[in-house]
Amino acid sequence: MMHKLLLKNAQFVTSAPDTAHLSQYNLAEFAFLGRSNVGKSSLINLVANQKKLAHTSRTPGRTRLLNYFKATLQNETDVDIGIVDLPGFGYAKMSHTEKAKLTEMLSEYINLRPAICGIFHLVDIRRDPEPDDVALSQQLRALERGYSLVVTKSDKVVKSKRKITLSKIAQAYGLESHQVILTSVSEKFGQDAIWEQMWTLASPK
Ligand code: GDP
Repeated sequence: MMHKLLLKNAQFVTSAPDTAHLSQYNLAEFAFLGRSNVGKSSLINLVANQKKLAHTSRTPGRTRLLNYFKATLQNETDVDIGIVDLPGFGYAKMSHTEKAKLTEMLSEYINLRPAICGIFHLVDIRRDPEPDDVALSQQLRALERGYSLVVTKSDKVVKSKRKITLSKIAQAYGLESHQVILTSVSEKFGQDAIWEQMWTLASPK
């Protein structure tokens, strides 16, 4: 029998001020992170197939909490997973103190969260790879927890140029094109590649 992979039943669980507050949640966990305004909330909503699960914000950089959701990956068996929406970084108007706090929060989460099964690192298709994103990518891959670079807003590049843009981004990050997931919320694609990566990492072996 053929099974179609789907993510269903996504629901908000809690907002936590730090990693310690998530200690009671032990599902196989997937984190989404990226610069503020990269399209993270929109992509989480697409992945979860819900319009308002993660709140897209008109004032970037406002969410400084770890938002925890749970959902079920449906395939030949059902697997419950946790999804963590990490605060966007790189917001220009953030004060020095706020930036330091955020950096600490992210690094604490990445290093102290045993449940992490996979990390989706989002980058905007229109932006040249920034040194801090490249450094972050290397740091995340070194954890060996399952890493994917996710290119957002692909619809902003004409179809004929997407492949070359993708390979340039991959190259800048030292990845092969197949390690990079192309997404667009406007054109509604890429969510199934994310589900597949989640399934690969979280399904019973
Ligand atoms: P976040 O700050 O990373 O959570 O980003 P948001 O999800 O709030 O998105 C930031 C802005 O980018 C919003 O104006 C979204 O409508 C827009 N956006 C997000 N994803 C896409 C996409 O795939 N294509 C296009 N064209 N715009 C997008």
